[in-house]
Amino acid sequence: MLLQYYLVMRQSELFTKTKKEAPKDEISKNAQLLIRGGFINKEMAGVYSYLPLGLRVLKKIENIIRESMNNIGGQELLLSTLHPKENWQKTGRWESMDDLYKITDSSGKEMALGPTHEEIIVPIAKQFVSSYRDLPLSVYQFQNKFRMELRAKSGILRGREFIMKDLYSFHTTEKDFNDYYEKVKKEYKTIFERLGLGDITYLTVASGGTFSKYSHEFQTLSSIGEDIIYLCEVCSIAVNKEIQKEQQECPQCGKKDLSEQKSIEVGNIFNLKVKFSDAFGLTYKDESGKEQPVLMGCYGIGLGRVMGTVAETLSDEKGIIWPHSIAPFTLHLVDVSGGDGSIQKKTDHLYNELLEKGVTVLYDDRDVRAGEKFADSDLIGIPYRVVVSAKTIAEDKVELVERKNGNTELVSKEKLFTLQ
Ligand code: ATP
Ligand code: MG
Repeated sequence: MLLQYYLVMRQSELFTKTKKEAPKDEISKNAQLLIRGGFINKEMAGVYSYLPLGLRVLKKIENIIRESMNNIGGQELLLSTLHPKENWQKTGRWESMDDLYKITDSSGKEMALGPTHEEIIVPIAKQFVSSYRDLPLSVYQFQNKFRMELRAKSGILRGREFIMKDLYSFHTTEKDFNDYYEKVKKEYKTIFERLGLGDITYLTVASGGTFSKYSHEFQTLSSIGEDIIYLCEVCSIAVNKEIQKEQQECPQCGKKDLSEQKSIEVGNIFNLKVKFSDAFGLTYKDESGKEQPVLMGCYGIGLGRVMGTVAETLSDEKGIIWPHSIAPFTLHLVDVSGGDGSIQKKTDHLYNELLEKGVTVLYDDRDVRAGEKFADSDLIGIPYRVVVSAKTIAEDKVELVERKNGNTELVSKEKLFTLQ
């Protein structure tokens, strides 16, 4: 399905070119690599555009998350970006939320640029929920959020404008809420595994903020992370230092000497209780006809933050190493014929066959030196690089190089067709 969005796969026709240098003011590794590879463009601190290669990655991340959201009964929608001031006044967050972007139009009307969407979804839910029979419900979206982040120096890990998946769930009883919360927890684990971050991402107990005792975060180990967690390597569970200043014990096995690690919060899940239901009067009639407040949960994942985390943690000095599941293409076919017509013809032919078999392939058909092509290929970080040469033709094979470990093999072209 992704193919229908982007038909250009010849690198000579690609909208972007790789760059030797990232902008001078860009200090984060994730943005440096992603800018140099042509995935994103920096507009100003904390604001980035996604270019064709970057959008392919973003859409793959989105689809993995979407499959999981659908799996747990979420219904996808798209809420507005401009928010009425009145809604934010009702919850008190017009005044209390420091990072809210407030805008005024030429008629003097004030509004907010949505940093999160409880203020929009709860009044909508109120129109459709009246009885216990209407619940439970869960809805989600992928949308740009706006936050006045003062520390916007971490590339796409902390944007002033960024794409989030936010899921909101609505329940009658605490038990029903808890069951759903556990379901989301499990599904998030699957998501981070599929995104290629499973080995370094840990469920983390965190403060519940003002609404509840605990919330849970998903934290990915990284030396540039802004969070500090205490990790129990036995249970693969962590505790956020923010709630527990002193190193404490594992919430699961009681182990005491936990390891202190820096990490990036890639997702979180929250019990909202009745905070927003109360603000907007979101209630349902129970079986005895009595009005009760609806219980709510919210669950976020930052898509750009995931992409940036991958660029930070799954990369080497040469560039990014995309996990297959979110790579912009599966294969990078590099023409190294250097003008040798017969080799070029074979490479062209292989490109067409790969397309026919539905393998996503970026074809470096540019008229530049092989060394430059290989360096670009390492920077862009497609999982497999394929080369046709006189030597491989003699053996009726192609050369396949794996980006993550440099392993090189001669394989039959049929093998490539299995690398979807
Ligand atoms: P942080 O503590 O890092 O500021 P948060 O607690 O404000 O995060 P939420 O409001 O719960 O985050 O947002 C849900 C998810 O959205 C986060 O887990 C993270 O993945 C992502 N996210 C939050 N803020 C940003 C941002 N400024 N840029 C990119 N992604 C973000
Ligand atoms: Mg924040």
